[in-house]
Amino acid sequence: MNGNKTPISLIVDDPAPRVFVYYEHAGADKRTLDGRPLRDNVPNAFLDRFCDLVERRGIRGKYSVVPIPGGRGRVDGEIPGFPREEIAAWLETVNARLKPFFDFCPEMLTHAGYLDLATGKMMDEQENLWSFRQDAETLTEYRSLALEILKNAGIDATGFTSPWDFGEKNEDAYARAVGRAMERVWGRKESWYFCRSLGGRGARPWIAAEEDGRRVAAIPGTIGDMIWQAMDTTDTSEEYVDWIADLYITENGKYGEIPKRLAVDSWPILTVHWQSLFSNGAETGLRVLDRIAGRVERALGDRVEWRSFGDLMRWTMENR
Ligand SMILES: [Zn+2]
Repeated sequence: MNGNKTPISLIVDDPAPRVFVYYEHAGADKRTLDGRPLRDNVPNAFLDRFCDLVERRGIRGKYSVVPIPGGRGRVDGEIPGFPREEIAAWLETVNARLKPFFDFCPEMLTHAGYLDLATGKMMDEQENLWSFRQDAETLTEYRSLALEILKNAGIDATGFTSPWDFGEKNEDAYARAVGRAMERVWGRKESWYFCRSLGGRGARPWIAAEEDGRRVAAIPGTIGDMIWQAMDTTDTSEEYVDWIADLYITENGKYGEIPKRLAVDSWPILTVHWQSLFSNGAETGLRVLDRIAGRVERALGDRVEWRSFGDLMRWTMENR
């Protein structure tokens, strides 16, 4: 990366066209913590408003697309319950409006039960638990299918995101599988994945695998999702939005997790979830993100610069 500014980046986990991925794997009663029923789908208009915010603030990072969201159907085919045109429109918007700012990635296949590749059926066991028993070969098969589905759907994915703690217990096999699948489907030698969240001094990406000329960067989240709580309350007041934004960065830029990360020579890489921004339909989380980005711009604009995960990957490979 050029210049002396520290990269700041946004991780957006769990998006998918129309299907509300969080609803699909939420507990049996499918309610918010304050007892309201969870919304069971996300309208395309929400994506439009997210894109408006990204374009206005110049936010960059990585954006997941779950290929078989909740096991309900494939994004490159039919998802029962949602018209094909709405799925296509969502994918088109993502490509047209988010690609200039974000690198795309699958978040495994279903973000629910694992898919039995032999039968094509979704099993009860969650994908992350299944992943721990796999080696580099089976993980390569699983990841390749994720990339192929997105490729068929017109989404150029450059890396991977892990649902829950997918791959954390066998990260060496996991990292090699990332490189193998990316070369198999896209012919690329370089790729990245997001799996771990790290705090502490100097937290930034590293090279996790090198094999047969392929290189794989592991990019951690360094700031957890504190916007999540916005889905569990009906409070949408300006004070509430300010209160959450303050956890990240105060108006004067001096306090909060973002300046804290900078103070310990770490890169601020913020993890948020589609459901946090959606806030069960209230979209309070979008307003929080807008406020955070505005403060970053005003208070830290001379010190940090929004970067995509492709940028972070290239920087890591050039400066190891
Ligand atoms: Zn997720």
